[in-house]
Amino acid sequence: MKILSVNAGSSSLKFQMYEMPEETVLISGVFERIGIENSFYTIKVNGEQIKKEVQLPNHEVAVEYLTNELLENHIVDDLSEIKGIGHRLVHGGDKYADSVVLNEDVMKTVEELTPLAPLHNPANLVGVRAFQKIVPNAVAVAVFDTAFHQTMDKIAYLYSTPYEWYEKYGVRKYGFHGTSHKYIVNRIHEILGRNDIKVITCHIGNGGSISAIENGKCIDTSMGFTPNAGLIMGSRSGDIDATIIPYIMEKTGSTIQEIDNALNKKSGLLGISGISSDSRDIEAGIEAGNERAVLAQKMYVRRVINYIAQYYVELGGCDAIAFTAGVGENSISVRKKIIEGLSVLGIKLDEEANNVRGKEALITSADSSIPCYVVPTDEEVMIARDAYFFCK
Ligand code: ADP
Repeated sequence: MKILSVNAGSSSLKFQMYEMPEETVLISGVFERIGIENSFYTIKVNGEQIKKEVQLPNHEVAVEYLTNELLENHIVDDLSEIKGIGHRLVHGGDKYADSVVLNEDVMKTVEELTPLAPLHNPANLVGVRAFQKIVPNAVAVAVFDTAFHQTMDKIAYLYSTPYEWYEKYGVRKYGFHGTSHKYIVNRIHEILGRNDIKVITCHIGNGGSISAIENGKCIDTSMGFTPNAGLIMGSRSGDIDATIIPYIMEKTGSTIQEIDNALNKKSGLLGISGISSDSRDIEAGIEAGNERAVLAQKMYVRRVINYIAQYYVELGGCDAIAFTAGVGENSISVRKKIIEGLSVLGIKLDEEANNVRGKEALITSADSSIPCYVVPTDEEVMIARDAYFFCK
């Protein structure tokens, strides 16, 4: 059965088409700069990568190009062969603890949740509508970034702010990257051959979050009301003292938008180092002796260690730690520093095994108190699995 996995952003649209249940990727691609000049798309099919520069005034046009590629490459002979489309939706609030079929009611609810994800939810929905027009018979399924974290209890998800902020305005921790954390913990369960265990999953990329998971259920996660909580990220601050905001607004006369922009786009590794939000540039800066790059990475690593330590205690122990996403899968030096910083827990790095990028591997030694793994994430296949579930 042909299932599409879709991730639509405000100016981009990523897709992968799967043959299910085999999970074979038939074609994948990304449309970029939708609604902006110089738009283009790249597709991967039959082991080839092709880039085409085309006008993409909106998502609907991108979906038309996408479906034409499916037909021209004989992935399908008729669009009715596409039975299901899984859409990544960022925010399901506290309404969805699992994926659901995207009917009009769900669309309305996702729209109502826009104030919680003003950039993401409307963009996700534009993608959904574009596919509804062009592939109307496929079952559309919403796969929420927040769903996996809905198992947290109030002690974990409430903030110590006035209770009516929670009741009236939905101010609570929601957590994000849920699809990735779920994929990683499932994989750890497979590797260890059991699921009655405690796992700490570290999704550290440009954005980053850590989850504490017991028996497959999330009990805590580092992102919060928005994705700008918890870890130090590429350009996001992560946890800060909230009172800095009114202080800086008063000092600089900045608007709320300017402050929000500074906390999301000018902070994190970029803010501290002054060089870049990209951890490869930070590593190059460290090589070149840049002190602020050194400081940025030390702060970044310490925050990760602190969250792992916190979750170790919260879980009452831990059976495995997993690293994923851009930094987690690829940065040998960041993983090494994190694991060395956890040595007090008896965790021991295997330097040679850690010399790995983008591949699944056990990176701690046999006498390590907790095994640590690199597990490349695959959110696309999770989205396809959930869509397939509703089409079987
Ligand atoms: P996003 O959150 O945007 O999906 P990714 O998961 O792709 O981000 O992660 C991007 C981050 O991964 C960047 O900071 C990048 O520097 C880092 N990264 C990718 N490859 C490497 C590498 N070989 N060494 C160190 N960092 C890497």
